[in-house]
Amino acid sequence: MKDETKLCHLGRPHEGLRMVNPAVERGSTVVFPSYDDFRGRGRPKYYGRHGTDTHEALREAVMALEGAEGVTLTSSGLSAVNMAILAYAKPGTEVLVTDSTYDPVRAFCDQYLAPRGVDVRYYDPLIGGGIRKLITEKTALIHCESPGSLTFELQDLPAICEAAGDVPVTVDNTWGAGHFYKPLQLGATISIQSATKYLGGHSDVFLGTIASRTAKAAKTIFKTAQLLGNATSPDDVYTVLRGMRTLHIRLAEHEVQGLALARWLEEREEVARVLHPGLPSHPQHELWKRDFTGASGLFSVVLKRGDEAYTRRFIDKLNFYALGYSWGGYESLCLPAWPATCRSQGAWREERQVLRFHAGLEAIEDLTADLDQAFAAANQEPLPAP
Ligand SMILES: *Cc1c(COP(=O)(O)O)cnc(C)c1O
Repeated sequence: MKDETKLCHLGRPHEGLRMVNPAVERGSTVVFPSYDDFRGRGRPKYYGRHGTDTHEALREAVMALEGAEGVTLTSSGLSAVNMAILAYAKPGTEVLVTDSTYDPVRAFCDQYLAPRGVDVRYYDPLIGGGIRKLITEKTALIHCESPGSLTFELQDLPAICEAAGDVPVTVDNTWGAGHFYKPLQLGATISIQSATKYLGGHSDVFLGTIASRTAKAAKTIFKTAQLLGNATSPDDVYTVLRGMRTLHIRLAEHEVQGLALARWLEEREEVARVLHPGLPSHPQHELWKRDFTGASGLFSVVLKRGDEAYTRRFIDKLNFYALGYSWGGYESLCLPAWPATCRSQGAWREERQVLRFHAGLEAIEDLTADLDQAFAAANQEPLPAP
């Protein structure tokens, strides 16, 4: 079955006279038919916190999309990444984390794991098979994110997984959304998504997914989630499943829009560099062609100027790009970023202003015209007096 068919068919009621979509099954207490059923606890779910049939429906769909043996749903993308790391990190062990990781994951590593006796070591996202040199008997986990947050470095995941041997490899797969990138097929142990982004697709819900390649990893993750008291709302789960039905259509359009904007920006004199893996100018474009089947709508540019007054003028002139965190909805966004403040391995040395764009589903003519007038206005207005 192709992804497009999976997205339309999985997680739906299969038998009898039925609605197209699963019901939103809300509940805490699961009622047992008899004392023996209660004592036997034969069912995998005996309490609502473990999920209802609505959760099962989304888990089935994400398992199929990621090619996973099991999926755990969590309250947010951040909780999904952190829970996967917690499942393996123990006091006295070490975790290897890409220097290009989503910044709040870095905060979790530094401010939660490290004080509890887990050594956290950040590595250059371009390390590839060279990660072998960092692995010791203390290494509990290798965390990857490809492309990296804000700066879009691609990681050579097959080379990292080969070097990892028995060490579990987790990958933040939010950008590829499970459709354009299949980390579990490339050897990763666990693929994680912020379903808040493209799976949900409408900027109206928080959810995280942890997809495991093996039954053993799935069990480890599920157990950790249970021990931590993880629970998710069936309404949120339903909202994400509903978004997933059009994932392939939306992503195809985000790809076209993102590439068109990236190419347009690459021609602008105000722009020093465009960081989009789908452009031939991207340093790991060949890796993208090898490992990905498409590009989503998120990318960055480096402006030639680095002064904040210029950035402020440009952003405040934009009409169709909202200024806000998160991404993956239907709408265009533009976010100023300072990646050097959340990197320690020196791979990112750029001093100039980074702008991260999310290409939404508006008409491309409106999107480019909006950038054009914002650049014109930002270029013209004199710098404010010091
Ligand atoms: C947004 C994001 C997250 C966190 O997801 P939330 O659902 O907002 O908690 C994790 N990883 C990446 C790459 C993200 O962009």
